[in-house]
Amino acid sequence: MADAVRRKMLLVVNPVSGKKLAKQYMMRMVNRFDQAGYSVTACCTQIDKNAYEIVKNRGKEFDIIVCCGGDGTLKETICGIMQLGLDIPIGYLPMGSTNDFAHSLNIPTDVYKAVEAIINGEPKPVDIGRFGDEYYMYVAGFGNFTAISYSANQKVKNVLGKNAYYLQAVKEFFHMKPFHARVEADGEFFEGDYFYGAVSNSYSVGGMPVLHNMGVEFDDGRSELVLVEMFKTPAQMAALAHDMIHQSVAGNKLVTIRHCKHVKFMFDEPMPFTLDGEFGGEHTEVEVETLEHAARIIIQKPEWVSLEDEPDFEGAPKEVEEK
Ligand SMILES: [Mg+2]
Repeated sequence: MADAVRRKMLLVVNPVSGKKLAKQYMMRMVNRFDQAGYSVTACCTQIDKNAYEIVKNRGKEFDIIVCCGGDGTLKETICGIMQLGLDIPIGYLPMGSTNDFAHSLNIPTDVYKAVEAIINGEPKPVDIGRFGDEYYMYVAGFGNFTAISYSANQKVKNVLGKNAYYLQAVKEFFHMKPFHARVEADGEFFEGDYFYGAVSNSYSVGGMPVLHNMGVEFDDGRSELVLVEMFKTPAQMAALAHDMIHQSVAGNKLVTIRHCKHVKFMFDEPMPFTLDGEFGGEHTEVEVETLEHAARIIIQKPEWVSLEDEPDFEGAPKEVEEK
């Protein structure tokens, strides 16, 4: 294919994400993208936050940016794109330990399938969260458990995957305490002693699919505010754990969920936050906003065939395999 029609791809690779498999796949990935008509420039991240720098410095030269790494690498990539104000399709080859965001968007976690999904897929507008001066993709949270994903040892994470988080959760369980907060969400006010609080745009957080069937959409311009009051009795604690495991937290009296666009968190003293599983600084007051359709992430096309494209369709019901 002539270079003139080749689309220029920036491939940002974090070689140490997850099980450090990116290097092994590298040649085949580049080769496949090349076959599909892309001119690939690959950059490996060398240090923390490097994906952000690479994208910020070079992003404007390309037609598509593909990120190969964990959710943290994707977050940095998107932050770089947001800083540049670029409207560019983003591909994601998930190689992290939990790949929460990939699961939520139905991006394949098998690397070759993910490559094909980028080649054959289509960009989908998704919302991005603004947290003060920073950006996040799926969760900004405070309270118990929020330090888990960044405090769980990377080696432990690689070996145990999600279990590393649960292991850390069990350790933290014995150190749980309430965090006093005032929260304003689209004009509604809340105040209390919270066990956990977050603004999220994902079904699952830390690998736990706690927000299934609760109207979570990635492109609705709204996020979910989740506030969990501190439990006071062992029975309350047991009920909360039960409801989390059974994905039915909406009915729990300690849990408040709101679909909203603007959230302001206020604390009496600086509160550590986590953004997409990484330390997000300490804040006494911080505003969180959902930026509607701020990025375009390539997802695989649905496998079903629409009726318009089906010439033989004669009104007969067809069996559709549910996934
Ligand atoms: Mg949403």
